[in-house]
Amino acid sequence: MKSTTWIGRHSRKFTCHGIVFAASSLGTMELLFRLKEKQSLPAISLQLGKHVRTNSESLIGARTPGYHEDLSLGIAIGSGVYIDEHTHIEAVRYPGGSDAMGLLTTILTNGRPGPNRIFLWLANILKSLLRHPLNTVRGLQPWGWAREFVILLCMQALDNQIEMRWQRPWFWPFRKFLVSWGDKVPTYIPRANEFAEKFAQLTGGFPMSMLPEILFDIPGTAHCIGGCVIADSSTNGVVDGRHRVFGYKNMYICDGSVVAANLGVNPSLTITALAERAMSFIPPADATAWDDAPAASS
Ligand SMILES: Cc1cc2nc3c(=O)[nH]c(=O)nc-3n(C[C@H](O)[C@H](O)[C@H](O)COP(=O)(O)OP(=O)(O)OC[C@H]3O[C@@H](n4cnc5c(N)ncnc54)[C@H](O)[C@@H]3O)c2cc1C
Repeated sequence: MKSTTWIGRHSRKFTCHGIVFAASSLGTMELLFRLKEKQSLPAISLQLGKHVRTNSESLIGARTPGYHEDLSLGIAIGSGVYIDEHTHIEAVRYPGGSDAMGLLTTILTNGRPGPNRIFLWLANILKSLLRHPLNTVRGLQPWGWAREFVILLCMQALDNQIEMRWQRPWFWPFRKFLVSWGDKVPTYIPRANEFAEKFAQLTGGFPMSMLPEILFDIPGTAHCIGGCVIADSSTNGVVDGRHRVFGYKNMYICDGSVVAANLGVNPSLTITALAERAMSFIPPADATAWDDAPAASS
């Protein structure tokens, strides 16, 4: 889509036998919330937006100013380790040109979310500035970040979840957005922070945390999943085991929004496998009656 498409935008109508939503967890939730609100798809389950998961992730890492190798070169994820039965950590590199990501990383800070963690973070920065002034400044500024940084992507198969609602946030009441609601998911995983500290000791660098995790208790994740989860009925989810949307015929969802658990691994192969399985139930077009609906559309 061109960035100027919104200028002079006009709507067009298409007619089709069936439809597959595949706009990712956040995209499909937004589309379905909009369509439910417009009364275009009023029967979508009330479970829409529930059971949203972040793969129970925390992004930590280590920056080694002046490191002798260029860490931005090579495949993005080349190694990973399970540090316990639930916790998986992968070493991730970002390509050159990603230095703006450095604005999101800061000195590693432990502790429960809230003002205490923010004070601890400020104290950590002060301590580091007093001990290694030059290296601290080099480690906190974004230039050269991709060359010197290893992100440690921590993922857990433990269950925790949030709800997303379609509403006007208090800080921007002019339009609706997906807004998180209810219990928070952890932004501080002690064993992951210990791992980052050991890793940084070995490389001679600084262990780092994500700034939004410390300041706003918002977890960093590349793997938002759920929100239209698979379930046995519309009282528990949005689609059935064949990804058919409860309450409708010939309507499917095939993306990360149907995933109903924290996987503890990168999710795209699971999403692909689920989508392939869902499509395998649909016969060739000539043989299709086009009245395919979930059995339990309660
Ligand atoms: C930086 C980064 C690195 C990652 N690395 C890995 C990895 O190494 N391994 C791994 O397994 N996973 C990785 N992931 C996660 C993986 O990319 C996602 O989990 C996966 O792509 C989700 O698949 P999906 O089909 O749900 O959505 P997507 O792949 O995001 O596809 C959704 C599509 O819908 C389009 N769309 C959205 N809204 C609309 C709309 N309203 N109308 C029309 N189109 C719309 C989007 O443009 C997009 O093309 C990474 C994610 C990020 C952000």
